[in-house]
Amino acid sequence: MNPCRGCEHGCAYCFARPYHEHLGFSSGLDFETKIMVKRRAPELLLAELSKPAWPPEPIAFSGATDCYQPAGRDFKITRRCLEIAVELRNPVSLITKNRLITRDLDLLAKFAS
Ligand code: SF4
Repeated sequence: MNPCRGCEHGCAYCFARPYHEHLGFSSGLDFETKIMVKRRAPELLLAELSKPAWPPEPIAFSGATDCYQPAGRDFKITRRCLEIAVELRNPVSLITKNRLITRDLDLLAKFAS
């Protein structure tokens, strides 16, 4: 589950850079500065997880972006998706290098319990 495309962290080694070219941007500076926010991600996630055919299985957050990059501070897409996963008791895993994850410790504690 990638709440954005592009990543402000801008790691030189990032394998997700070429994916930005699929959007018509460069894999260089555009990847770090033109961040596409998936505003409808929470509602789409809810719709998907609510399907009777959904087999509850862990959902990985990040992968082609960092789900806690700076843009997430304002848009809170990751937090809203985590709220849905908690409500539906669907396990998740997260990869991040941003301390913004500490904002959502209340939700992560619910997964842990
Ligand atoms: S934090 Fe992750 S997604 Fe973001 S640029 Fe670095 S490696 Fe890529």
